[in-house]
Amino acid sequence: GHPRTPAEPLVPRDVFIAVKTTRKFHRARLDLLLETWISRHKEMTFIFTDGEDEVLARHTGNVVNTNCSAAHSRQALSCKMAVEYDHFIESGRKWFCHVDDDNYVNLRALLRLLASYPHTQDIYIGKPSLDRPIQATERVSENRVRPVHFWFATGGAGFCISRGLALKMSPWASGGHFMSTAERIRLPDDCTVGYIVEALLGVPLIRSGLFHSHLENLQQVPASELHEQVTLSYGMFENKRNAVHVKGPFSVEADPSRFRSIHCHLYPDTPWCPRTAIF
Ligand code: UDP
Ligand code: MN
Repeated sequence: GHPRTPAEPLVPRDVFIAVKTTRKFHRARLDLLLETWISRHKEMTFIFTDGEDEVLARHTGNVVNTNCSAAHSRQALSCKMAVEYDHFIESGRKWFCHVDDDNYVNLRALLRLLASYPHTQDIYIGKPSLDRPIQATERVSENRVRPVHFWFATGGAGFCISRGLALKMSPWASGGHFMSTAERIRLPDDCTVGYIVEALLGVPLIRSGLFHSHLENLQQVPASELHEQVTLSYGMFENKRNAVHVKGPFSVEADPSRFRSIHCHLYPDTPWCPRTAIF
């Protein structure tokens, strides 16, 4: 469970949410996020992408063109995480959260969760993607390797890191270091974060059941508990369409991700939500 007493009051500007995206998903995925959760607190969210987009730039000033390659390669994704990290450090904010562009972030639940931890201490919180630590091979020098195992939070469910911990990660994460650290274990960006935090710094991942990726059955998230969930997602799971099961106000055809319906459930005062949702 989570500690429920706030350790410190938090305002939206204390949190830096990095959304990882790519040019080809700006219309297909990002616009939906801008219309829903991002619109509630634009000052919290920064979009990390790989191509210019005037339509997006008109919508929000918080767009970072990473100049990383638009390929889905390990290197390209690590490059984006490295830029996210550097921008967070530069921002001076208390919390860093990373999400994908197929995540819905429940900002109230996120603030509530983070406020229950001190940002000056070592906090790494998210959902482990495996049921056991990942086994990796660490290259310690030119021709020496050793086995290493650690837990990591799956990037597709989102995760958060306190400023206190992020500062300690700096020797392996800042500037160009994140990419060379990722090369040391030859694993994706989210695994590399776990490697730095758990294996190199000895700080354990705090598991939270409030973060959700589409690699789990999202139908199992009860609609009555949507207010508590920190992140949600949609996509494919075991070759089937996977989304949160929530009744209206939009049909599955009109709102396949269910994000519009979820948003109206959480913020019934939204102008484009059917008025009936308020009553
Ligand atoms: N992504 C990216 N570059 C790519 C492909 C994907 O930055 O070439 C991002 C995408 O925008 C998303 C994340 O990587 O935020 C995961 O992509 P996706 O959901 O398509 O794949 P998954 O790993 O969830 O199957
Ligand atoms: Mn995905």
